[in-house]
Amino acid sequence: MKLPPFDYACPTTLPDAIALLASHDGDAKALAGGQSLMPMLAFRLAQPALLVDLRKLADLRGIRISDRGVALGAMVRWRDIEDDVRLDHAHPLLKAAIAHVAHYQIRNRGTVGGSIAHADPAAEMPGIAMTCDAEIAVAGKSGARVIQAADFFQGALTTALTPDEIIVEVRLPPWPAGRRWGFQEFARRRGDFAMAAAAVFYDEDAKRKARNAHVGAIGVGDRPLRLAAAEDVLNGRSIDDATIARFCEAHAAAEPTRIVDVLVNAALIEGGFDNVSVVVLKP
Ligand code: FAD
Repeated sequence: MKLPPFDYACPTTLPDAIALLASHDGDAKALAGGQSLMPMLAFRLAQPALLVDLRKLADLRGIRISDRGVALGAMVRWRDIEDDVRLDHAHPLLKAAIAHVAHYQIRNRGTVGGSIAHADPAAEMPGIAMTCDAEIAVAGKSGARVIQAADFFQGALTTALTPDEIIVEVRLPPWPAGRRWGFQEFARRRGDFAMAAAAVFYDEDAKRKARNAHVGAIGVGDRPLRLAAAEDVLNGRSIDDATIARFCEAHAAAEPTRIVDVLVNAALIEGGFDNVSVVVLKP
């Protein structure tokens, strides 16, 4: 289907982009990679009067790695993450998750900011943001603010962003050496959206007991989830068979109906959601 008519602007500064978005009383939209927005226009799920293309905004580009963690500019594309060898150590969980995003052509266009703003509950980047306690730095006509991932995702395709706000950067906290982690995803075909995915990491204390466990689930709710019950099971315990068994029970307890559905589907396709636990054991 043809796109509906719209005006187009391609500002070169962030303040100009914000002013353009603010000028249309919520009837303007930012355009990043266009991988979700263009289909939404084609299906008339969105009909903004103005598209504000973000591609010339230098402030939104680049991956910065420092002792404060990994900062992903909103216009960083999946391909940039894939190609950045520094992330193999600086954030291996991010890299592993993004390897599951879509197909080559889409990874060439899709952006971190677009995915976070679109807030598809089955998308990998929002799931990683939630699992890792990311901070989402945004700028709008009232100034800049930082939103915690837990407050940002409010439902399917619904976020805390106001219509004039632009995501500038997504900040992931530092990733210590020796951290154990795993990412498992079930999709009908490689590159499809996840039917379900789980991201797990924890650190170890001197007695090799897990601490700081983070467990996230993708595609099993109206937004990316943190499974607090599963985290409680891991923290303070050695990761052995008994802990793994409790961990899997906690998955089921956290989201009874939906997770059971996912378990059944996943078991049919890949041989069992318990693969997540296998990854917990093996960094
Ligand atoms: P756009 O489509 O340009 O924008 C999406 C939304 O975000 C719009 O509402 C736009 O206004 C808003 N927006 C964009 N940037 C900003 C910003 N900086 N600040 C505020 N608002 C902003 N994704 C996955 O995670 N996993 C998959 O498996 C997957 N499979 C896909 C398969 C297909 C066939 C397609 C077409 C897409 C798939 N995607 C998948 C989505 C893709 O990865 C894109 O990342 C995603 O569509 C959004 O990024 P974008 O840059 O294209 O954003």
